[in-house]
Amino acid sequence: MKILALPKGAESTVSEELFDWMLTIRRYLHRHPEVSFKEDKSARYIQDRLSELGIPFRAGIAGTGIVATLGEKTAATRHVALRADMDALPITEKTGLPFSSVYKGRMHACGHDGHSAMLLGAASLLQKMKFDGRIDFLFQPAEESGCGAAAMIDAGVLDGVDAVFGGHIDTHFPTGIITVDQGVICAWAEPFTISIQGRSGHAARPHEAADAVVASASLISALQTLVSRETNPNHSAVVSIGRVQAGVAHNVIADEAVLEGTLRATDSESRARTITGIQRIVAGIAALHDVEVNVVFTHSLPAVVNTGVATVTAKEAALSVVGEHGLGSQGHPSLGGEDFAFYQQVTEGCLVRFGAQHPDGAGPAHSATYDFDENVLPVGASWLAAVALRWLGDV
Ligand SMILES: [Zn+2]
Ligand SMILES: [Zn+2]
Repeated sequence: MKILALPKGAESTVSEELFDWMLTIRRYLHRHPEVSFKEDKSARYIQDRLSELGIPFRAGIAGTGIVATLGEKTAATRHVALRADMDALPITEKTGLPFSSVYKGRMHACGHDGHSAMLLGAASLLQKMKFDGRIDFLFQPAEESGCGAAAMIDAGVLDGVDAVFGGHIDTHFPTGIITVDQGVICAWAEPFTISIQGRSGHAARPHEAADAVVASASLISALQTLVSRETNPNHSAVVSIGRVQAGVAHNVIADEAVLEGTLRATDSESRARTITGIQRIVAGIAALHDVEVNVVFTHSLPAVVNTGVATVTAKEAALSVVGEHGLGSQGHPSLGGEDFAFYQQVTEGCLVRFGAQHPDGAGPAHSATYDFDENVLPVGASWLAAVALRWLGDV
């Protein structure tokens, strides 16, 4: 592992000892994954590491959230927040890693174990440095459910904060690359639930029933035309149905069907147009098949929009850590959602991506075989430390 240089004013390197410490943390969290708002053990483990460092913190924020603090804000100084997420996914791990999840149906398949380890690494680095201003370390719950950031904000974690920074591990890019982009980098995400109410009957006598399964099939096909026929081809949008539930037996016509899906768009116009389109198609299918159809948009997630000044600081920090050859770009916004977006609705902010391509190949994020290159840990910790110092004006 190449030891990475930190900016002027920072301690010169991530030591091997610190790297090992972060590895231990990542692997412990990986073995003991907990899903959204249930991160009790993980949060306790992180609190123990903060205590080990002697860094003061407040726990139990928005459930399991933690805010650790270094430095002090005065009238003449700035106040920056660094964010990591702690939650895992309801997936049964199939990586065969020696530190695989000990729980069936729970897995760190998005790299949040790495994010928490990196933020603790950054806290350890920054603790040894002199700087003016205040740095808060946000360990948030429930990123995957899209609810954690908003709950943290409601609990007041951004009060007085003038910028928030974070990074997400990304195995599409090699380790040592940090992508920094201004503007939209993650899409608007609009999960929805559609319920269809028909009338049940004998499979042999459809004329006595109103078939919710046939209505579902029409609906799913019709929804595909929203992107292919109604979205400007120069813009990006997705409508995916991820779950369909209907029926009780092969010879009974289903009276009910429930469909769950998500709409993603990288511009507000496509988003609004597609929402209207879903509502229109739902009404059309109801009339077409003589059933009742309702759509509910369950939890809207805004786009991650990296703001100008914060993005400049994020870029400078990336250059100082990985150099010109390591500074990358996503190329285009991701259609993934990220609840970091909520922080940016309150204050300046920038979310970057830490390249972490697995040397032996591994499954993609949110798959049962996902893994990342752990050499990303010192890159992420260094960048988090560097960006905080730069924002505070101490470099
Ligand atoms: Zn995820
Ligand atoms: Zn994630």
